[in-house]
Amino acid sequence: MGRLDGRVALVTGASRGIGAAIARAFGREGARVAVNYHRSEAKAAAVVAAIEAAGSKALAVQADVADGPAVRAMVERAVAGLGPIDVLVNNAGIADATPLDQMSEDVWDRLIATNLRSVFLCTRAVLPAMLARGRGKIISVTSQLGQKGMPNHTHYAAAKAGVIGFTRALAREVGPRGIHVNAIAPGPIETDLMGPITDEFRREKSAIFALRRLGLPEEVAPTAVFLASDDSSYYAGQTLCPNGGDIMA
Ligand code: NAP
Repeated sequence: MGRLDGRVALVTGASRGIGAAIARAFGREGARVAVNYHRSEAKAAAVVAAIEAAGSKALAVQADVADGPAVRAMVERAVAGLGPIDVLVNNAGIADATPLDQMSEDVWDRLIATNLRSVFLCTRAVLPAMLARGRGKIISVTSQLGQKGMPNHTHYAAAKAGVIGFTRALAREVGPRGIHVNAIAPGPIETDLMGPITDEFRREKSAIFALRRLGLPEEVAPTAVFLASDDSSYYAGQTLCPNGGDIMA
C-alpha cells in the first residue's frame, strides 16, 4: 500500500529536475499525477510513462504557470482526466543571474511571474474545490536563497522569500478549513537549473555544507511525499529544508 493511494496530485514543472522526481515518487506511492510542463513535451511524456509503468495513472498537462487562463485550463484538464486534486505542488521555476544595476524590468518581471505569481495562480485555481471538500495539501518549492540571499539573484531571492510569506499567510487563512500549506526550501540540487556543473563548481559550492556535496532531485522528493501524505497532519506554514546542512533552522 502506498502512502498516497487514491490521491490526485498536480505537480508543476514536472518534466525535469526536482518536479520530475516528485511526480515519479508520488506515482510510486500510489497517487494519480498530473505532470505539468511548459516546453519539454517529450520529457513530460517520459515521466508519465514511468509513473504508468510503476502501476499508477498520469497525465501530461501543458501550461505556462505564469499565465492565468492557461493555469485554469490546466487544472480543468487535470481534474477531468484524473479527478479532484488533493495535492498541488508548486514547483515550476526558472533561475537567472544578473547584477541589480544591470537588471531590466523585463528580466525582473519574468522571474517574479514564473516563480511567485505562478504560486498564486496555481493555488487559486485549485483552492475552491479543496475548500469545498474540506481537505487538501498545497506544497510550494521555494529555495534556501529566499532565506539567505545570493549576489546577482535579487529577483530570485525576492520571489522565493515571497513564496515563504505566501505559505505562512495562506496556512493561517485556510488551515482552519482543513487545507495544509507548507513549503520546501532545497539547497543546491543537481539539475538543469544550476547550469553546467563542473567538479570545481561542485567542490567550491559544497565546501560550506555539512554534508560536503550537492543534492539530487531524488533527495528532495521524499520531503514532498511526506508533506503530501497523512504523516504531515500537524504541519502548517512550515518550510522544510533538504539542504545538506547550510542554513540550519
Ligand atoms: P529545472 O531542472 O530547470 O526544471 C524546471 C522545470 O520548471 C521544468 O519542468 C520546466 O518545464 C518548468 N518550467 C519552467 N518555466 C515554466 C513555466 N513558465 N510554466 C511551466 N513550467 C515551467 O529546475 P529544478 O532545479 O528542478 O527546479 C525546480 C524548482 O526547485 C524551482 O522552483 C527552483 O527554483 C527550485 N529550486 C531548485 C534548486 C536547485 O538547486 N536546482 C534549489 C532550490 C530550489 P519545461 O522543461 O517543460 O519548460
